[in-house]
Amino acid sequence: AMAEVGSPKRTKDIIARYGFTFKKSLGQNFLIDQNILRKIVGAAELDESKGALEIGPGIGALTQQLAHTAAKVAAVEIDNRLIPILKEVFADTPNVHVEHGDVLKLDLDALIKERFAGLSGVSVVANLPYYVTTPIVMKLLEEKLPLEHIVVMIQKEVAQRMAAKPGGKDYGSLSIAVQYYCVPELVCIVPHTVFIPQPNVDSAVIKLTLRDKPAVEVEDEAHFFRTVQACFAQRRKTIANNLTAFVGKANRDQLGTLLGSCGIDPSRRGETLSLAEFAALSRALLEAGY
Ligand code: SAM
Repeated sequence: AMAEVGSPKRTKDIIARYGFTFKKSLGQNFLIDQNILRKIVGAAELDESKGALEIGPGIGALTQQLAHTAAKVAAVEIDNRLIPILKEVFADTPNVHVEHGDVLKLDLDALIKERFAGLSGVSVVANLPYYVTTPIVMKLLEEKLPLEHIVVMIQKEVAQRMAAKPGGKDYGSLSIAVQYYCVPELVCIVPHTVFIPQPNVDSAVIKLTLRDKPAVEVEDEAHFFRTVQACFAQRRKTIANNLTAFVGKANRDQLGTLLGSCGIDPSRRGETLSLAEFAALSRALLEAGY
C-alpha cells in the first residue's frame, strides 16, 4: 500500500520530486500529522453514502483520508502547479475528483449536484487557506448550499469568534452570521508544529452543523445583518449611539422608544445581544420604516 500522503517523509518526497515551492500568498501550510487528519475526518460524520467537498487539497493529505471514508471526494485547488501532483497521487483512486479553480468564483451548487448526485449527504471538509477563511465560510453559508457539516481547520482566533456566545470580546457579527445558519462546535486546538511550513498562528478545527432552518425567524435577512453590523459599528459604543447613525440623529427619541418596545436597554452594547434580540430589533426597525 502507498504510504500516507500526510506523513512528513512522503510530503517531503513529493515536494522534492516536483520541485514544489510553497506560496505564502495562497496560504499553503500542509498537514503532516495523521492524528489530526483522522480527527478532522472523524468530526465530519462521513460514511460510504456521503460526499466530501474539499477546498484546497494541496498535495492530498486530507483528500486521501476522505477518499477512504466517503463515497466520493471533490477537491477544488487554485494552484495549477498542484494539479499534476494531485492527478498522479490519485491516479488509482477513482472516487477522487480534482477541480482546478478558485473556490470563491466557482459555482459550488452546480459542482455539488454534478459530483454528488444520489448520495445521502454532503459535507465540506478542509484545511482552509487562512487568508480567505471568512469569505469562504460565508460563501458556503450565504449560498445556502445543501450541506450537512462544515468541518474546517482555521486560525484559532477566527474559530473562537465563530463559536462565541454573547457577552465576551470574541462575540460579534461573525459569531451571529455563523450561528444564524449553524450550530458551531470547537473540535480541537492544533499546534503549528503539525504543518509544513509552520504558520505563525495557532489553529483550530471547528465543526459547523447546518440548521434545517435559521436559528431565528427574520422578515428580511439583509436588514437583519445590516442591523447587526450597525450595532457593532463601534464596539465600545452603546446600542443607542451606534444605532443613531443608522436611523439618523433627528430620530434619536423614537429610537429610545423602539428599543424599549423590544425590551433592550439602550445603554447595552452590541456584544451583549442574543440572536433573538437582534431579530426583534431588526423587525421593530423595519416596522418603523428604517
Ligand atoms: N489540504 C492540504 C493539507 O491539509 O495539507 C493543504 C491545505 S493549505 C492550508 C490550503 C490550500 O488551499 C493550498 O493548497 C492552496 O493552494 C489552496 N487555496 C488557496 N486559495 C484557494 C482558493 N481561493 N480556492 C481553492 N484553493 C485555494
